[in-house]
Amino acid sequence: MTIRKLPSHLVNQIAAGEVVERPASVVKELIENSLDAGSRAISIEIMGAGKKLIRVRDDGAGIPKDDLPLAVQRHATSKIESLTDLESVVSLGFRGEALPSIASVARMKLISGRDGSAWELEIENGSDAGITPSAHPTGTTVEIYDLFYNTPARRKFLRTDRTEFTHIDKWVRRLALARPEVAFKMAHNGRTILNLMPALDVKEQLARVGHICGEVFSSQALYLEHDTETMMLSGWVGLPTFNRSQADMQFWFVNGRSIGDKTLSHAVRQAYRDVLFHGRFPAYVLYLSLDPAKVDTNAHPAKHEVRFRDGRTIHGFVSHAVEHVLSDTRPGGHDTSLTPTASSSTRFFSQSSMGFGINQNVASSVPETLEAYQKLSTTSETDAIPPLGFAIAQIAGIYILAENNDGLVIVDMHAAHERILYERLKTSFDDDQLVRQPLLVPSTIAVAEAEAIMAEQKASLFQHLGLTVDRRGPTSLIIREVPALLKQSDVELLVRDVIADLMESGGSTLIEESCDHILATMACHSSVRANRQMTIPEMNALLREMEVTERADQCNHGRPTWTMISLDELDRLFLRGQ
Ligand code: ADP
Ligand code: MG
Repeated sequence: MTIRKLPSHLVNQIAAGEVVERPASVVKELIENSLDAGSRAISIEIMGAGKKLIRVRDDGAGIPKDDLPLAVQRHATSKIESLTDLESVVSLGFRGEALPSIASVARMKLISGRDGSAWELEIENGSDAGITPSAHPTGTTVEIYDLFYNTPARRKFLRTDRTEFTHIDKWVRRLALARPEVAFKMAHNGRTILNLMPALDVKEQLARVGHICGEVFSSQALYLEHDTETMMLSGWVGLPTFNRSQADMQFWFVNGRSIGDKTLSHAVRQAYRDVLFHGRFPAYVLYLSLDPAKVDTNAHPAKHEVRFRDGRTIHGFVSHAVEHVLSDTRPGGHDTSLTPTASSSTRFFSQSSMGFGINQNVASSVPETLEAYQKLSTTSETDAIPPLGFAIAQIAGIYILAENNDGLVIVDMHAAHERILYERLKTSFDDDQLVRQPLLVPSTIAVAEAEAIMAEQKASLFQHLGLTVDRRGPTSLIIREVPALLKQSDVELLVRDVIADLMESGGSTLIEESCDHILATMACHSSVRANRQMTIPEMNALLREMEVTERADQCNHGRPTWTMISLDELDRLFLRGQ
């Protein structure tokens, strides 16, 4: 066997194996080059799903005549010069691989205008077929014909036009999300597919997000912006009630680069853990900016992944920021279409305590109907009416009907109460302030021996949870105290469920997540059950409590707790005014 050096054309074709997987990868690389050249508008023309032609035209800086042949040479780049540059890359490209790789597996034309003149370079079979004068405004057009024409094996792996175009479309949209300030236009086989104007402020950016992810998402997304001295996170996260069956609407942009990253997606998942329906996935478009030296972009040939130098800090930062914005998902929290006034409802009602043990002081000081409220209210503008309005009735023993300024509010009382209890339990637990209440008659329960041992060993955790449970014999426990918040519940069932949760988690050192789980179990147990008849003051107290409870828009399992039918919608139902 003799060792020989491979000819450069073959070296490029080998590299193309990594960089150029399919037409979409070519489109991605060309657009990234346009973005790196500072373009403000990029136009993409595709024929035959990119197998016949890919043309990307931009208004960027252009390439000087003498640099044109270099652009298609391997490891030739204008973006970095040294290891120091590599360690803090700010451009999307830096490996100098894309153009030579693409040129080795397709026919290429590179036309570029700069400083008032324009030149065209044609590449055939990977080699330069000469530079000729051309006409082009400042900027660059790259044309790729007959992708994989000289590598039949690769060509065979291409899928149907439809599939290939779907991949192209996905990338273009992703890049358009990455750079909202740039205009994007795309046509396929002569038909315009995308035409996006530059989005220069948050409102226009949200419109672009709506265009790309659908308006259902953009109308149910919360904007967030959070920064520290070294990092900045911004973007949109879907309301927990807007969720997906797959993780297919999750976009991460790190320093303007679209990437997939486990640390980041885990951080978001963690932030949603308390509010998302089981087995569902959140939707989001998030932008993280940080010192480029803190991210290693050179971790993947097509740069779909990055490595963070301090993943832990970033995880905490992201998770905290998303959790923070989600904590305000409560009636009147983010939604400006509802009457505002988290503050006014707090002003009027913050003293209220949960009904079913309802705080009568609050009940008597709060008006009970919209009319009474309006009469009583000394403030002007009816818009100080609390977001969930006033209770009118209860139906099917499950739903509370209420009226607010905008129309009819429907509340799932069990789901709502469960979230309220859960949030209160969590807060008191975190502050070690769960008030215990002795049972008039301590209750003895029979358990398995292992359970009795567990309860004995975990006595201090039980105390922390507001429960005083003593071992009475090999297989029996006595319950002496329960959290005052849960005094209405079936204490025996409650304790059994807590023990079951503990047994399941192995009783090991409990991490935050399993504590939350136990508290959720307790809340679920103790919340108001269906068919419990409630009085109007009780219902109003529940509504007021929802308005001041974090995450009250969804129950502990991520189901919505309330919805609204506006007067307009009611009018439409009854064909009024048509
Ligand atoms: P990289 O992007 O990693 O530098 P490429 O092979 O993609 O490598 O491109 C090689 C060089 O060609 C770039 O560094 C850049 O100088 C130049 N170039 C490519 N496309 C454009 C463009 N659209 N506008 C201006 N310069 C470009
Ligand atoms: Mg490049």
